[in-house]
Amino acid sequence: MKHHQATETLLNRLGVSPLKRYGQNFLIHEPTALSMVQSAGIQPNETILEIGPGLGALTQHIPFHTNPYISCEIDRTYHAYLTATYPTNTTHILGNFIKTNAMLASVILGNLPYYVTTEILEKILRDYQGVRVAVLMVQKEVINRIEAKVSTDSYGPLAIMVSLVSDFCFIQDVSKTHFYPEPHVVSSIFKLTMHDRHKDIDRQAFFYFIKKMFLHRRKTILNNLIPEIKNREEGTLILKAAEIDENTRPEDISLETFIRLFNKLNIVKSI
Ligand code: SAM
Repeated sequence: MKHHQATETLLNRLGVSPLKRYGQNFLIHEPTALSMVQSAGIQPNETILEIGPGLGALTQHIPFHTNPYISCEIDRTYHAYLTATYPTNTTHILGNFIKTNAMLASVILGNLPYYVTTEILEKILRDYQGVRVAVLMVQKEVINRIEAKVSTDSYGPLAIMVSLVSDFCFIQDVSKTHFYPEPHVVSSIFKLTMHDRHKDIDRQAFFYFIKKMFLHRRKTILNNLIPEIKNREEGTLILKAAEIDENTRPEDISLETFIRLFNKLNIVKSI
């Protein structure tokens, strides 16, 4: 029997085909789904939020008897299927995760749709402050950007936002053959354990700031800063106060140094 036969049968029963525009590549390898859910180390009573449950590859391994569960799915066919299949101790939200209000959850799980991965990650990191752990699957390429070190080509807002609020841990790669339909690239699972080392930072404002600082990554930090302040002279002074050479490029600035700059900038703006 082909690996994807059960998934095809279910899709036929529901009368639908996977939609590219929603990034619908369903996980058909059960051991991977199980180990992904297990790596969250779910504790009794923790509320679990799953983003894009689809046909329920991960959902089937949720301990519904001990844990409240919330799903957020954009596709009404899968939303209806999940609602009918898992009616107890669950809340199934039909909608675009990016546009939903943040919910109270301790654990986030998701095999993320590739077309909107960065936006979903950013929303989790910015709006989900009560979360303990997130176990997510993305295209392998995204991992390079998440764990990028300062002064490398992949280093940018994503790596900085991730490390501001969490500790990253790579779990495993997942072969293309473990999905139906097969995607073009390898996927990877990783875990983010949230920390509160920077709990005083306003995440919304910091994320906005960091994206502005990387708008022109080949330009100097001074040139990226100027649109955010009154003039060049002020920029020079703020950078001096933050102990940053004004000719430095954003990709050569560490998280701690960016935090220093962000705090100095806020002091100047509040005067
Ligand atoms: N969790 C399932 C699995 O592992 O087989 C499905 C994963 S599939 C890669 C992504 C899922 O996210 C699909 O079910 C898709 O309909 C859903 N989705 C796509 N965009 C979404 C969005 N903006 N908000 C919520 N769900 C979304």
